[in-house]
Amino acid sequence: MNNKNTSILLIYTGGTIGMIENVQTGALENFNFEQLQKHVPELKSLGFPIESVQFEPPIDSSDINPDAWRKIVRIIEENYERFSGFVILHGTDTMAYTASALSFMLEGLRKPVVLTGSQLPIGKVRTDGKENLMTSIEIASAQDENGNPMIPEVCVFFESHLMRGNRTTKINAENFNAFRSYNYPFLAEAGIHIRYSPHYCHRAVVTHLVPHYYLDTNVLILKLFPGIQKYVVDTIFDIPGLKGLILETFGSGNAPHESWLVDAICRASKRGVVVVNVTQCLGGCVDMSKYETGFQLIQSGCVSGYDSTTESALTKLMFLLGHGYSPEEVREKMMHSIVGEITRE
Ligand code: ASP
Repeated sequence: MNNKNTSILLIYTGGTIGMIENVQTGALENFNFEQLQKHVPELKSLGFPIESVQFEPPIDSSDINPDAWRKIVRIIEENYERFSGFVILHGTDTMAYTASALSFMLEGLRKPVVLTGSQLPIGKVRTDGKENLMTSIEIASAQDENGNPMIPEVCVFFESHLMRGNRTTKINAENFNAFRSYNYPFLAEAGIHIRYSPHYCHRAVVTHLVPHYYLDTNVLILKLFPGIQKYVVDTIFDIPGLKGLILETFGSGNAPHESWLVDAICRASKRGVVVVNVTQCLGGCVDMSKYETGFQLIQSGCVSGYDSTTESALTKLMFLLGHGYSPEEVREKMMHSIVGEITRE
């Protein structure tokens, strides 16, 4: 259901979804909103206003960075009262990072912010973009019987699933079904009907939007692998100016039993670097107390990222470090959910 107060702002940042084949040259080109309306005439028949803003020029999502996130937050802040929901068209490659970052930057969000994209350009006959766009708009406009938004948080819609943004990962470079949320249930499933699961939605405690713009990018992801060498680990942990590091470990948070690895983490932790343990597995949770190979990491000052995605842990670290918290405060906050990004029993 939606009512007469429904209005959607489409924020077009770029990516495959926004490409249209030039009939003369056959090349793929970025579209503007008028071209989009030509290819998706259904937009006019929705019965509520849709306006758009676009990045100039639109960008491949490999070029997305914290400035682009700030730009999106600014657009949402400036238009928050005028629109009942927001749909962001975005390249799929880094969509999970953007969705995670926005979930932290838009504190107190009570309206839908739905990110979507496609694997085939909207100008192609078999495009998945049209379906993803129309369903995202429908979701962003959906209200409950009291006129409140069905989905009051940052999420990703892809193929037929609506997922919490900071729980998603791109898992396929080719299939239409390109995103997954392994550690959190879907917020909605779209078939003939869109079936919502409102009880899984995050509800902000703060009652007004508090946009955040500070992010600290002095962070790094280190993926462990059998055979990783001491000099590589030492070089990385000793990088001057490094403030936070996501350590992608094996299984339930385990690492090689090497004293030099523990020493490097201890040294960095003492210097104030926040080291967060996330698993390389797509699903499941870090539990460093399970095996000795994990336990050694607790002793070195590493904190658990629980069942966080790497994308979410990284952007959360940028967000917390950007707010000037002490390393101890950042460690503490990493272990607690801010917007439903981790589950702790
Ligand atoms: N390279 C594109 C992007 O992420 C891929 C896509 O949109 O699916 O911008």
